[in-house]
Amino acid sequence: MPHISDNAIVLRRLDYSESSLVVVVMGQTCGKIRVIAKGTRRSTRREFKPGIDLLEAGSIVVSVREHRQEALAILVEWKQKCAFIGIREKLDRLIAAQYIADVAARMTEDWDPHPSVYESLHQSLEALASARDVFPPIVRFQRALLKEAGLMPELNHCVGCEKPITGSSEIYLSSFEGGLLCRDCEGVHVEKRLVTVAPEALTTHDVLDAHGPDVASGMFDLFNYHLTHLMKREPAAMYQLQRLAQGIQHQ
Ligand SMILES: [Zn+2]
Repeated sequence: MPHISDNAIVLRRLDYSESSLVVVVMGQTCGKIRVIAKGTRRSTRREFKPGIDLLEAGSIVVSVREHRQEALAILVEWKQKCAFIGIREKLDRLIAAQYIADVAARMTEDWDPHPSVYESLHQSLEALASARDVFPPIVRFQRALLKEAGLMPELNHCVGCEKPITGSSEIYLSSFEGGLLCRDCEGVHVEKRLVTVAPEALTTHDVLDAHGPDVASGMFDLFNYHLTHLMKREPAAMYQLQRLAQGIQHQ
C-alpha cells in the first residue's frame, strides 16, 4: 500500500479496541483523514511513550488503500511537532480548542484538501495556547472555515431588500437565508438570531483586537448560530462557550 506523508493536527481520538485507537486528523495537504493507530493504547498503559494525542500538531506517515474513502488509513509514523501546551493549562482554552477541532472535523469531507483550514486551525490553536480572551482566535477560525466552505453569510446588506446595513437599528442573521435581515424584512422569517454586534464591526477584519471582548464574543455567537444550523447539530463545548460569552457581554 502506498505511503503518504503530511503535516497534521489531531482533531479526534477514539479508543478502537483493547490495543488500538482511531484518530481523525486534519492534514495540511490531504485534508481530513481517519487513521487507525495499532498497538498504541497497550504500549501507553505500561510505560510512557510519546503517543498521538488530541489537539497536537505533528508530521504523519500513513499507508492507504486505493479506494481511500472506504477504509481507515493506517498510521505508520507520528512525530509530534507542537503540543500547544498552553491550551491544557486553562479550561476555557481547552474547550475553545475542542470547539474549533469539532467544527473543523464536521464541516469538511474526508480526503478533501483544505490547506487554508489547516493553516488557520494551526494559527488558532497557537493563539489559544496563550490567549487571555479565547473568542478572537475562535472567531478567526470560524470566519476562515466559512469563507473556505463558501458559506460565509452576507454581512454587508440585507438579504431581503438588498439595502446596506447601517446604523443602530435591530438586525438579525438568518442562516437559511444566508445573511443579515433588516428591521423591515425580519418579521416574516422565523429562523433568525438577533445580532448583538454593531454592523460596522461585522465586516472589518481587524475588529477583534480593536473593539474589545464583547465584540469577539458577539461574533462567536453569530457564527456559532450559523455553523450549528449548517452542521445540523451543536458543536462540542458550545454551551460552555456560550456561558462564557454571556458572562463577557454582561460585564
Ligand atoms: Zn431588508
